[in-house]
Amino acid sequence: MAEKLKVLKGTKDILPQDIDMWHFLEEKANEVFSKYGFKEIRTPIIEVTELFSRGVGDTTDIVNKEMYTFEKSDRSITLRPENTAGVVRSYIENNMSRLSSPVKLWYHGPMFRYERPQAGRQRQFHQVGVEMFGIKDPTADAEVILTAVNYLKALGLNDLDVEINSLGCPKCRNEFKDRLKEVLKPYLNELCEDCQNRYEKNPLRLLDCKVESCKEIFEKPEVQAVIKSDFICEECASHYTELKLYLEKMGVKYTENKLLVRGLDYYNRTVFEIKSNNLGSQNAVAGGGRYDNLVEQLGGEPTPAIGFAMGMERLISLLPQKTSKKLDAYVVSNFQTDAFVLTEELRSQGLEVEFDLTNKKFTKQLEKASKVAKYAIILGEDEILKHQVSIKNLEEGKQITVDRENCVKMLEL
Ligand code: ATP
Ligand code: MG
Repeated sequence: MAEKLKVLKGTKDILPQDIDMWHFLEEKANEVFSKYGFKEIRTPIIEVTELFSRGVGDTTDIVNKEMYTFEKSDRSITLRPENTAGVVRSYIENNMSRLSSPVKLWYHGPMFRYERPQAGRQRQFHQVGVEMFGIKDPTADAEVILTAVNYLKALGLNDLDVEINSLGCPKCRNEFKDRLKEVLKPYLNELCEDCQNRYEKNPLRLLDCKVESCKEIFEKPEVQAVIKSDFICEECASHYTELKLYLEKMGVKYTENKLLVRGLDYYNRTVFEIKSNNLGSQNAVAGGGRYDNLVEQLGGEPTPAIGFAMGMERLISLLPQKTSKKLDAYVVSNFQTDAFVLTEELRSQGLEVEFDLTNKKFTKQLEKASKVAKYAIILGEDEILKHQVSIKNLEEGKQITVDRENCVKMLEL
């Protein structure tokens, strides 16, 4: 026998027995995001590499270590590691700034990151997310967070923590970066290699480090004093205060987390994460924030924007397993042509129906019917002659015989 091939490490098949969960997530996304005025956008899975080095930022783990990049006719191409950069490219390329603002878009689909696979972390995974363009007011921040919370509620997930923080604007943040570098300088040699690299390029990202020895350094009183200080300027502070007021008005419970900096370079002002206590160490289901400079950075007009992305595998792992849906009916008969005709007739009326393609014994067919369907529709000699069908409710065992034209009506009862 030829050697069997396996799925790549960090990737998974989504099998038919699990597909109902995925449809549920996608349908609820369409339903809830539509209520908030978001329209779906589908951008390509491959983009030019430069989109991500410029868009996500070349000091991020994503761009430095995690991208799937290849060459094709002298172009460097990358499988998208996230979808904000792609949506922004499309927004600019399709002149969406000419539409009246806000422009509200949502998406779902596969993303690719070369990470160490573990529970809740894959190399091909799926995200569902939204982006809103054109509004600088904190109402936009509040509406986007509310959209996320209400999507999670619609899925049945109520028990989640919303964490928020403000990163300020480039101006006030630079002062903070300098103070952070200053206070961490004496510990530079004790920080992990990643943090040592980030120290110059992106000191804010140090706060995101998950290495224990680094975390201990951040707990030192003098470092905490800098982290906890209110570094953001007056304008950024009032944006943040207003956001919190809106969230309170809308009944969104949140906690403030000054260590929340997010892994991507493009954020400013509001950042947020939604976490679950039931996910172990990969506990974030959603991450998002404001990125007012990204559109301009990618060649568009200056346009404020904000969005979030959620990990769909992590959402599914929090939801109760859905059992596979049963067929509406299974036609049981040894008169194959009649069975075939009746099955097609019922399908054309919108029912999910099957019949036995191999004409097995009647009892075998009935056994199969009780496994896969809610009703058996029995078509024996008598029924055919009288133009009737017998309907057996496979959960309750009751059986009735009705005229054939009443069959669908009886199944709906
Ligand atoms: P994490 O800290 O878990 O690595 P992140 O900051 O890299 O998350 P984002 O880029 O903000 O994550 O993506 C948003 C969401 O996508 C995450 O909250 C998570 O639910 C999901 N996600 C990110 N990376 C993966 C992955 N490799 N496998 C599965 N889900 C992922
Ligand atoms: Mg990550």
